[in-house]
Amino acid sequence: MIDNIIREDIEKIKSELKEDDFAEKKVLITGGAGFIGSWLCDVLVGFGAEVMCVDDFSTGRMKNIDHLTKNPKFKLIKSDVCAFQSRDKFDFIFHMAGHASPDEYQKHPIETLQTSSFGSANMAELARKSDATLLLASTSEVYGDAKIVPTPEGYWGRVNPIGPRSCYDEGKRFAEALLVAYHKQYGLDVKIPRIFNSHGPRLREDGLYGRAMSRFIMQALANKPITVYGDGKQTRSFCYITDTVTGLMLLTISDDAKGEAVNVGSAQEVTILELAKKIKEMTQCSSSLTFQPLPQDDPRRRCPDTDKLEKLMGWKPKIPFEEGLKRTITWFSSKGTT
Ligand code: UDP
Repeated sequence: MIDNIIREDIEKIKSELKEDDFAEKKVLITGGAGFIGSWLCDVLVGFGAEVMCVDDFSTGRMKNIDHLTKNPKFKLIKSDVCAFQSRDKFDFIFHMAGHASPDEYQKHPIETLQTSSFGSANMAELARKSDATLLLASTSEVYGDAKIVPTPEGYWGRVNPIGPRSCYDEGKRFAEALLVAYHKQYGLDVKIPRIFNSHGPRLREDGLYGRAMSRFIMQALANKPITVYGDGKQTRSFCYITDTVTGLMLLTISDDAKGEAVNVGSAQEVTILELAKKIKEMTQCSSSLTFQPLPQDDPRRRCPDTDKLEKLMGWKPKIPFEEGLKRTITWFSSKGTT
């Protein structure tokens, strides 16, 4: 599905990039029907790239890409990334497939680990055969419950290897180690963006897939209580989707970022309570705030140090928190409160 907000945002992303870097390139996007993956599909097809989207729809949604399926530059393959095989050669592989929502990945810990481990291994081999650039959607979760905030890439992380979040955290840590090994042993061009909380149109809001941002907005739009976990003093930094996607695409083509892990996210840290209150204010809803138990191992603070991104790319996320939030709320409110 594509609407005016998404259309404008795609154009915004394209205006930050050079068409020539992507036009006519052969691109594989795993998790292409997901939140960030579907934006990559849109921008790359818009630039005239030939895009193959692989998705098993375990967390992705057909409605994110259905408008592309008739485009001759776009090919959809329904497959688990662990099983996907292709004789095609690619210029770029974006390995975006994964389970990113804490409630959902904790329900499917084995699949979550498999996508990051076997799926990444499969993509690394495919990239090696193609001599493709391979970008892995890594995560701020590799830092776990970080003690240094804003967190630089040099921080090794504080992760509970057998905790409820370990399937996601350790899976991505393995995937990072694997890509670095391919870079060292085979000289493969790998890019490892550590993506921090992102939001915007197409962020899932339903059931186990919902995130704090999308749930709070839907609760506010329905005038239902906003469910804050713990005391709400834990922090996150929310990056608007246009900045996240621009950052990923700049990294893909950067020679300086070969083999590097780079934080991609907003450096504006807010508490979850502030997020809830801001959404309440912006939607002018009558929702109350209800406080529920904080999930085990929920990181207390999360905010990236974006110096490396800025130094390597000469670019950093631009959309201020309130501006992005307003846009996400507008998009969700135009969808209706289901
Ligand atoms: N959270 C919350 N209420 C919800 C969902 C999440 O207060 O209904 C909290 C969650 O415990 C975490 C933060 O909001 O501290 C961000 O949650 P998100 O769903 O974005 O996942 P995370 O950033 O932890 O991966």
